[in-house]
Amino acid sequence: MDILSFEFKKNTSITPNTNLLILDRDGVINVNIGYLHKIEDLIFTDEFPNIIDKFKVGWDVCVATNQSGIARGMYTKHDLAELSKYMEEKISLMGLDISRWYYCPHHPDFTGKCSCRKPEPGMLLQAIEDFKPKRTVFIGDKNTDLLAAEKAEIEYVDIKDVSLFTV
Ligand SMILES: [Mg+2]
Ligand SMILES: [Zn+2]
Repeated sequence: MDILSFEFKKNTSITPNTNLLILDRDGVINVNIGYLHKIEDLIFTDEFPNIIDKFKVGWDVCVATNQSGIARGMYTKHDLAELSKYMEEKISLMGLDISRWYYCPHHPDFTGKCSCRKPEPGMLLQAIEDFKPKRTVFIGDKNTDLLAAEKAEIEYVDIKDVSLFTV
């Protein structure tokens, strides 16, 4: 099964051997209200500015997010694309450039098992294949994020520990 992603910037050039930061979305970038899909419901987490400060220089940044709300029929890929594009613009104004948004639209109860839904490492492995980074750090907030990072064999930081993390 292909790993799905959005890329909004034209001509994103990937320089191999750059450091890669992969961010979970809900609970890391935005406050997790459950199935966020409306721009007006977006609230950034208190920790997110901290991430920006630490990773804005010398890191490529992408997102890897489970979006089973699509499998559940709560919103569409188009809705997710619109929200992601809006978030990318906002985050860019805050000082961090996101290059690509990997997302899993599946849920085993609705669409069958897939290789992308965390704790599976599909999105992380795809990002590594695409960016060919020197070093990769994944920031998440759930045990499923940690498990995915372990399977992909990359560094993991829990959002709670970001303020203590030295890059
Ligand atoms: Mg999360
Ligand atoms: Zn999936």
